Amino acid sequence: MKLNFRDFGKKLRDFFSRRGYTCDCCGAEIFDYPNRRICDDCDALIVQEYPRCAKCGRKTVTQGVCLTCKRELPSFDVGMSPFVYEGMSAAMINRFKNRERHLSAFFSERMSKMLKESGLFSQDLLIVCVPMTKDKRLKRGYNQAEELARGISSLLGLTFDSEVLEKRKETLEQKHLTKKERQENVKTAFFVHKRVLVRGRDILLIDDIMTTGSTGSACARVLKNAGANKIIFLTAVSLKELK
Ligand SMILES: [Zn+2]
Ligand SMILES: [Zn+2]
Repeated sequence: MKLNFRDFGKKLRDFFSRRGYTCDCCGAEIFDYPNRRICDDCDALIVQEYPRCAKCGRKTVTQGVCLTCKRELPSFDVGMSPFVYEGMSAAMINRFKNRERHLSAFFSERMSKMLKESGLFSQDLLIVCVPMTKDKRLKRGYNQAEELARGISSLLGLTFDSEVLEKRKETLEQKHLTKKERQENVKTAFFVHKRVLVRGRDILLIDDIMTTGSTGSACARVLKNAGANKIIFLTAVSLKELK
């Protein structure tokens, strides 16, 4: 078989991309992948320093607690996310939601790092993920929150139980609803199994995106009703405070 240079180049690229030796974000080659999963250029753009809400961790316009938390304090004790939902991080999390399951490795690593650096890490944390309804999970093939939880569990050596929370009814997309509608929307959606496991425990609650925090808050509420102690809500990205 004759191979011209163009074919050869394509084969080489296919080889590297198949092996994953490319930036998860832009596709540039990274020879020490997976020690680094995104290239330096992308890293510089995706990581931002910004004022964060002391409660939910979302990017705020001013220092202190954001307006959403001021209006109604969420049921989780503290929220945090390594990335703001915009530009490259938004594109990456959307790819992760839509079939690119391997991206969970990148987000799990950054989420684990953030938890460690926050000083809130403890070997006693029990990991729980925000669930999907059975129908939706079947349709999608995987729950991205569960993928992240699994990754973080193995990186930090923490116990993860995917069956603690169940989502019993489908909720509408939070971002299109008013505050009141959002609260109603998630109020009765979540149910706690294995209450014995949860009682008296500090929980690390995992999700992919924090929009306003009302999903995390609804999960935290049922977990606390089941006797959970402190709840840290850790998501891969969070929406900045909207004015
Ligand atoms: Zn890159
Ligand atoms: Zn807040």
